[in-house]
Amino acid sequence: MATIIDGKALAATTRERAAAEVTKLAAQGIACGLAVILVGDDQGSATYVRAKLRDCEQCGIPSKDYKLPAETSQEELMELVGQLNADNEVAGILVQMPLPKHLDEEAVVAAIDPKKDVDGFHPENLGKLVRGLPGLRPCTPAGIMEMFDAYDIDPAGKNAVIVGRSSIVGKPMSLMLLAKNATISVAHSHTDPRELARICQSADILVAACGIPKMIKGPWIKPGATVIDVGMDRDENGKLCGDVDFASAELVAGAITPVPGGVGPMTRAMLMSNVVLAAKAQHGLL
Ligand code: NAP
Repeated sequence: MATIIDGKALAATTRERAAAEVTKLAAQGIACGLAVILVGDDQGSATYVRAKLRDCEQCGIPSKDYKLPAETSQEELMELVGQLNADNEVAGILVQMPLPKHLDEEAVVAAIDPKKDVDGFHPENLGKLVRGLPGLRPCTPAGIMEMFDAYDIDPAGKNAVIVGRSSIVGKPMSLMLLAKNATISVAHSHTDPRELARICQSADILVAACGIPKMIKGPWIKPGATVIDVGMDRDENGKLCGDVDFASAELVAGAITPVPGGVGPMTRAMLMSNVVLAAKAQHGLL
């Protein structure tokens, strides 16, 4: 049976570490504020924002919560981002995605000061990732790298397969694993479906981030592999599940993340770490 990678426990430790740093920085007069902007009334997004604000409270991170109506214009949103860029009390800015259709997400992300881009989505931060330079990294893949560290899984020399190539998960994940000297394959919707199982079977580290419930089954997994399930999907009964069929996968894998309780909690916790990192970088403390 596989080792279950306990994202919940690791997230609690990560938050404690962030909270200790926040206290230290506050003693030096450095504010680690996080501004969270939510546009519209999407219930899913509102739930995510509430969870992030709770995490802030737990870590002693002062938060500013902006709930804007769905009809907010691009100019109004850009103006708020501009104000927050200039606010010394605000170390990090997070605009909850997705935005209502009439708003230009790329323009909003690009307008955030890269030093305050705690989601790590700004082109400058993604460029730094490509160049191997320090910068704010997207929370989901950054949290997965923390999991590898915590469980002594060294990607060096391993075959890593990432299923999915989004800008927030698959692509940065592949770059982070490459930086740790893994050999990378990235599968996506154009990958020959007849080849996908074989590609997955070559993985010592398999990261599933395609958003298809339970697509990756036990027989697709190399015995002993580390399986990271990013998916947050609903199964045929409406129950939360991942992109990996956990029941069959855990019989083959060496280590595996559950859903829930794996990547999700670590993603949230890494946001807190990123706020601390942003505050430190802004004050020349890195
Ligand atoms: P996304 O933007 O929808 O990207 C999905 C990726 O999967 C795309 O690159 C797509 O390929 C690829 N794909 C789709 N069908 C495929 C198939 N049959 N075979 C191989 N690849 C396929 O999704 P995302 O934002 O990266 O999220 C992926 C999953 O992770 C979702 O379930 C999401 O809810 C979850 N998620 C969880 C967390 C967390 O904290 N736990 C964070 C973020 C996302 P193309 O590029 O060709 O379209």
